[in-house]
Amino acid sequence: SRREGFNSIPNVKWEDVGGLDSLRKEFEKYIVNRIKYPEDYEEMGLQQEMGFLLYGPPGCGKTLIAKAVANEAGANFIHIKGPELLNKYVGESELAVRTIFSRARTCSPCILFFDEVDALTTMRGKEGGWVVERLVNQLLLELDGAEQRRGVYVIGATNRPEVMDRAILRPGRLGKLLYVPLPSPDERGLILKALAKKKPIDATVDLVAFGKNDSCSYLSGADLAALMDEAAMAAIEDKRQEQKSSNGTRCTIKTEHFDRALKKVPP
Ligand code: ATP
Repeated sequence: SRREGFNSIPNVKWEDVGGLDSLRKEFEKYIVNRIKYPEDYEEMGLQQEMGFLLYGPPGCGKTLIAKAVANEAGANFIHIKGPELLNKYVGESELAVRTIFSRARTCSPCILFFDEVDALTTMRGKEGGWVVERLVNQLLLELDGAEQRRGVYVIGATNRPEVMDRAILRPGRLGKLLYVPLPSPDERGLILKALAKKKPIDATVDLVAFGKNDSCSYLSGADLAALMDEAAMAAIEDKRQEQKSSNGTRCTIKTEHFDRALKKVPP
């Protein structure tokens, strides 16, 4: 597997993302089509690439959709984790930010994804002191440099938008705020179906109905992925049991396995 932060085109497709249709439409308009059909956008006199902030509870697909955007656009993806950047380069934070943007330019078109971006931009003077302050200033400098951002699309992600420095959220910077919510009952079904593509689900299982189940309330996409894996484990467990009596039954994941898995995944 690739080194963290290394640029490459991710292998996450739209169909791997369950729900989040309105976000997908936004990103098609602002990023994917702009990379695919730049002439249309130039004709309209659109200059600066836009920056985005995805915010919402953990595990609901912020990273996943950013990767799908890059895949769909055929763009490189650079994944930067806010807290790591801060810790790794103490005292060299401005240089680190400059280096990241310069790397993004050399592999444009490129999606530059800052995970836990709040760690880098917590309100000045409040928590982190001078390191964070200088980092924010460098980040603003890079985001404002229109020429330097050609073909570089910056997406930040956070669970705590309220602690972020307002300056970073202005138009032209991470100015487009997009909420990534917990899935609705119907969306839970869509997520389960997306996750099921890589697994042998029994034909008798109704994932849409299962997703609407009250005991799935408040589960995030990440929780549903964990549930799916627990169900797969339960199926394997049964296969082992059955093999002792009969020989070689096909191993599929059945509704009872999902029910058992539900008991293991905390709401
Ligand atoms: P965090 O805020 O904790 O970084 P996040 O919102 O970036 O979380 P992801 O990393 O995108 O969440 O999601 C974690 C995992 O949960 C994904 O790799 C995927 O397996 C599953 N998942 C989350 N949301 C979805 C979704 N909408 N469709 C399909 N799978 C999802």
